[in-house]
Amino acid sequence: MKVALIGVGQAGGKITERLARFDAEMGFGAVQGALAVNSAKPDLRSLEYVDTQLIGADRVNGHGVGGDNELGTEVMQSDIQQVLNGLDGRVTSQAEAIFVVAGLGGGTGSGGAPVLVHHLQQVYDVPVYALGVLPGRNEGALYQANAGRSLKTVVREADSTLLVDNDAWHEQGESVEGAFETINERIAQRVGLLFASGEAVEGVGESVVDSSEVINTLRAGGIAALGYATEVASEDSGENIRTAMSVSRQALLTGTSLPDATTADSALLVVAGQPDRIPRKGVERARRWLEDETGSMQVRGGDFPLDSDRLGALVLLGGAERSDRIQEFMERAREAKRAQEREEEKTDPAEQFADDRLENLF
Ligand code: GDP
Repeated sequence: MKVALIGVGQAGGKITERLARFDAEMGFGAVQGALAVNSAKPDLRSLEYVDTQLIGADRVNGHGVGGDNELGTEVMQSDIQQVLNGLDGRVTSQAEAIFVVAGLGGGTGSGGAPVLVHHLQQVYDVPVYALGVLPGRNEGALYQANAGRSLKTVVREADSTLLVDNDAWHEQGESVEGAFETINERIAQRVGLLFASGEAVEGVGESVVDSSEVINTLRAGGIAALGYATEVASEDSGENIRTAMSVSRQALLTGTSLPDATTADSALLVVAGQPDRIPRKGVERARRWLEDETGSMQVRGGDFPLDSDRLGALVLLGGAERSDRIQEFMERAREAKRAQEREEEKTDPAEQFADDRLENLF
């Protein structure tokens, strides 16, 4: 699937950079163009694989918006024309979808991404998706409250919002910085494979996934999640049938970007590996298992030829908003918002709010 990527804010820019780099290094050619937009100049300087666009310079002078996502909304709104102009030539006639990438808990990405998605929807005919990062449980109250607000708005504006929970894709005990690195790397690999799996591959049979299957899986709207798992493939085809089932199960049950999201309106299963090791029977069995497990009658399947000694399963879920994880997150976000409001009432409202905001950033 040919895509254009626009990262907003720090996390958005870093993840977009990783995605563009992964696509280039693998030689997939799915990423047609990538742009990072930010109100903080230093965050843009470290990016190499993407074009950059500074916004809000007249308001915040390149220093960013702190954790103020309302200011993030305002700066995107006032500079929207500049951002859209900057996309000329990047969202080429070839792009089949646009992804707006952002950490939902911060300021620029949290406030700016929904505004950008809204405007892109007016201009482009292709689907506009969001790729949003949810703050982990241990991140401060400001992040939770910001992400709650941002998530509600972006889900309304985007054709689908693919969520990655910051608690999902890293090892226990890593430092925050180390964890971000790991998570970003995993997002790049997995989302990068999803883009690439919708690419036409020359000389391969009919079951290769088509872009339209990715788009149809996401047509359910709402929230999407992505799962992934791999195991070493065997020389023995009977054994690979078992492996295809096993990696599909792990991808959904333990490898997903949104822990516990197993109920969905639609799903897509892509089994990746060397073509002669991908077992037809195993893929079909895993696809039927996914139908039972997700409660969806619309489970598409296909394979993706990859020169690897492993078999991998990539599971995309569409319409996964009924998951417990989302309910739990929204409750946390509401509680954070209520706590913020109580603090605001307690003393001098303006000052107290500013203090909290700073404290929560560290
Ligand atoms: P912004 O620049 O104002 O949009 O703010 P950030 O992008 O820093 O957003 C803060 C949120 O994103 C918080 O939930 C952070 O934990 C998360 N975040 C920041 N940087 C990264 C990153 O590199 N990777 C991931 N996965 N999350 C990040």
